[in-house]
This record gives sequence, C-alpha cells and structure tokens, in this order.
Amino acid sequence: MLADQDRIFTNLYGMHDRSLAGAQKRGHWDGTGDLVKKGRDWIIEEMKASGLRGRGGAGFPTGLKWSFMPKESDGRPHYLVVNADESEPGTCKDREIMRHDPHTLIEGCLIASFAMGAHAGYIYIRGEYVREREALQAAIDEAYDAGLLGKNAAGSGWDYDLYLHHGAGAYICGEETALLESLEGRKGMPRLKPPFPANTGLYGAPTTVNNVESIAVVPTILRRGASWFSGFGRPNNAGTKLFAISGHVNTPCVVEEAMSISFEELIETHCGGIRGGWDNLKAVIPGGSSVPLIPGKTMYEDAIMDFDWLREQKSGLGTAAVIVMDNSTDVIKAIWRLSKFYKHESCGQCTPCREGTGWMMRVMDRLVTGDAEPEEIDMLLDVTKQVEGHTICALGDAAAWPIQGLIRHFRDEIEDRIKHKRTGRVSAVAAE
Ligand code: SF4
Repeated sequence: MLADQDRIFTNLYGMHDRSLAGAQKRGHWDGTGDLVKKGRDWIIEEMKASGLRGRGGAGFPTGLKWSFMPKESDGRPHYLVVNADESEPGTCKDREIMRHDPHTLIEGCLIASFAMGAHAGYIYIRGEYVREREALQAAIDEAYDAGLLGKNAAGSGWDYDLYLHHGAGAYICGEETALLESLEGRKGMPRLKPPFPANTGLYGAPTTVNNVESIAVVPTILRRGASWFSGFGRPNNAGTKLFAISGHVNTPCVVEEAMSISFEELIETHCGGIRGGWDNLKAVIPGGSSVPLIPGKTMYEDAIMDFDWLREQKSGLGTAAVIVMDNSTDVIKAIWRLSKFYKHESCGQCTPCREGTGWMMRVMDRLVTGDAEPEEIDMLLDVTKQVEGHTICALGDAAAWPIQGLIRHFRDEIEDRIKHKRTGRVSAVAAE
C-alpha cells in the first residue's frame, strides 16, 4: 500500500481544503519559480527520467511528448492545452483533482508550459463538471491575485496566462484534435493526423495536449525527483496513479496507489472487497469503457494493474477506471449499453465508425434479447475487425474492443441465451 507521505493528491483524503493557503500548507507552489529557472532542458529530462506515461488513456511518455514541441519559435505562439473533458464511462479521477486539488494542476500548467515555450494555457473542462469548473476558476483567480499567474508568474521571470473553457457535453471532444476544433469555436470533429498538434495544433500553432493528472503530478515529480517517482511500479510502468473503482465492490472510491499494485490488494485495501466475496466476481473492465473486459478469475488470481500486464491480456489500463461486475451482472447487457453509448457519441465523420457503430449496436440489440441467429456472433466479430484501425480517431476502436472482449470471454453465455430464447426457457432481458 502506498504510504501517506508518498501520495501526491493528499487533499483527496478528508481535508478538502482547496484554497491557496491550504495548497501551500501541503507544499504546492513551494519554490515554483526556482524550478522554472532550472530551465527547459532540465525539466524535460527530469520528466523523461521519471517514466511518467500519459494518464489520459494512451500511456504515451509525457517528457518525450513535450520534447516534440519546437525548440525555437518561428513567430507562432506555443500552447499547452489540458484535456479535462473527462467523459469516459466509469472515469471520474480528474474530477477529484479539480474539485479538491486545483492548485496542483495550475502549478503544473505553469511549469509544463514553460518547458514547451508556451505563454498561454487552456484547460478544456467537461461541460457537466459545473462544481469543478467553479473550483478551478476560483483557484485561477486566487493564483492571479497572488502573482502566481500573469506577469513574471510565481517569480519565474516567465509571463503566463491560463484560461478555463468548458465543453457542452460531447464525448468526442475528449479526443485531442476534436477538442482543439471545439476550442477554436467549431464543431468538435477529430482532425486527420498528420499534421500532429506539436506542429500544427491550436490556431495552427505548436500545441501539446495533456491529461489533467499528467500535468498535476509534474510539480511533485520535479520537487521530489525523477528517481522518487520512477521507484514506484514495474519498469516501463512507473509512478503513482489514481484509480477510480466503481461497480460491485463494497466501497467504490477514487484512490492514489503505486502503479503495478495487484488487483486483489487494490480492492481489499481500499474498497472493502468484492460485494458477496471473491467467488462472486464475474468480470472487470480495468481501464474505462474503451478497453475489453477480463474474466473475474483472471483478475483475482493474477492481475497487475499497469499498462503492460493489462495489454498482455488484450485489455488496457486506459484511464484506470476499474468497473467491477459481480455474478448478478448481465454482462451481455452491460456491453450492449456501451455499444449504444458509442453509437450515440460517434461524430459521424468517417464511414466505418458512423455505419459500424450502428451495425454493432443493432446486432447487440438482438444478442441481449437472445433474438439473434447463432452465426451473427461471428458476423459481429467480423464487423468489429472492419471498424478497428480503419477510422480517423480512436472512437472506432473504443466501440469495437468491448464487444471483442465479450465474445472472447463470454461466447458461451451469448450462445446459451440464443438457445434458451429459441426453446422458450428464458424470456431474456429486454433492451431498453
Ligand atoms: Fe468521428 Fe467516429 Fe470517425 Fe472518430 S472514428 S472521426 S468519432 S466518425
């Protein structure tokens, strides 16, 4: 279990004092100007050495991503954009940071922006996060009043402005280029890449888009040192991590733990165990709704909660939103509900996703009620393969993978439902 003194987000646990004075008592904004004065190269090298991988789902190394920003200015401004459009089903970790620890995010924005040569940053926050928006704006105002933002921010010699912008409820705006489109005032539709944002991003200028947690951990990493952070977790899976655990555990929560913790320890230590005991565990979606589920037995016996182990299981750490399902769960219906979500959230720009999400949802409609033909299971699998990897953005993959996981691990249950419906022994679940 992660020791209290190694937690970065200490204000998540009981104190809930998000004021500037409270943040400073916890060590935030301590010597920020001096950190900045150590220079861009030092900051980026420390971030690379820390092993931090992006906390928004893709897991790309953060320091390396920053190094893609041009070193020399060609007359265009540089921008940092923080992706706070947290809309993935099951995911609510960034909400906790913005609600309880907004100053560590703001401080991280200043340091990261300096490292990328950006005098301005934007935080794009999910429209439904009204309380978090208010908390964040109040903290930004406090930081300006205290001279931590604006001219010579925090005594760093760097002028820096930070803006908060709220979305309007579209999941697709969490995709980085759709987010940039939306920020520019257009409909949130993903852009074709290349060009990549580091070259042509916001307003056509070099831009880096990072997740809230990725930026909020930066000040602590730089203060305590890259080796402190990289000392947690297995190689290539470094650091501490927020896990958002929901579903059939006794105490759902958001908790910071060391990366590579076992699933069993995570659930027993922080969630009071599985509802009805470990024998009652049916399946787990370990990283938000975009990654395939894993059978409960595998999770209980072996699971290591990090990027590499979960990828070996053909799943992923994603956003570390852990959705636990016990034996009372209709797992076909659970995945059908996700299919409906992705169909609804597809922006419709590219054919495989626009048409494929509709196809997949309609077949799932029949599977959930048991009205499908048995051969439709393989047909559905085939459709997911036609969508996967053939779309402009990752939403197509996100729609395909949960269905692939369902068929991989619960084909028997799907077949049984079709068989029982035909023999009239089960009046299966009605689609809503
Ligand atoms: Fe839009 Fe889907 Fe294509 Fe992404 S994959 S650009 S959401 S249609």
